[in-house]
Amino acid sequence: MRSAFEQLLLPAECLLCHALLVPREAHRIVCPVCRQRWRAVRPPWCERCGQPEPHFGPCRLCVEWPAGFRSVRSAVWLDENARPAVHALKYAGLPRIADDLATAMTKLQSPADRAAVLIPIPLAKKRLRERGYNQSEMLARALARQWRIPVLVDLLVRTRETPTQTALTPDTRLANVAGAFDVRRAAWDVWRRHLQINAARDTPHVTCVLVDDVFTTGATLAEAARALEQAGATTVTGITFARAAIPDFT
Ligand SMILES: [Zn+2]
Ligand SMILES: [Zn+2]
Repeated sequence: MRSAFEQLLLPAECLLCHALLVPREAHRIVCPVCRQRWRAVRPPWCERCGQPEPHFGPCRLCVEWPAGFRSVRSAVWLDENARPAVHALKYAGLPRIADDLATAMTKLQSPADRAAVLIPIPLAKKRLRERGYNQSEMLARALARQWRIPVLVDLLVRTRETPTQTALTPDTRLANVAGAFDVRRAAWDVWRRHLQINAARDTPHVTCVLVDDVFTTGATLAEAARALEQAGATTVTGITFARAAIPDFT
């Protein structure tokens, strides 16, 4: 649902194509036609990183990932139809679009059949102040409402912002984000205690599901997974709304 404030400000039209929304779609920000234009990422893919299967040999993209980082899946390709939606989430000050993006993500396999917790990729403090919100947290909260699993927002912190990584090779990207994340020990301990009391009787190992808006090479997700693994997480997965095609990578 849109907040009352947004209802007042926004006419009931699609944010992307400006078509009027029919009354039963009025709670949405993106119309069904625009949502159907989003192109789902489909197999065959590397079982681990979800990238289209390489033509020769093993996948180069996820070979350097930490052992506990098991899989990443993305809902749609970052093409001319999905890019405006990501842009609206990130820069247009419309975090409520997260509900529409999260709906596309719920078509991916839900981790809710086992104990799982959603962990948004954090922004560095300065970036958070500039933007006013963390778009990954918006996505994680929207997903959590639909999947009915908890979100932990104060566990992972970003110690520094990393430069945009589009021109780097997978190896350089990993080096580029090294040490960019930390796990807040106090938050981790509180969470473990909570699990021991409530949920973890039958499931000692909870899956940490990292949430981000876009997967480019997975280096950021892999580095966040490494920080969680070092803190004691045994199973980390990732989920993103969109996936950028890497032109020089097959
Ligand atoms: Zn539309
Ligand atoms: Zn792979």
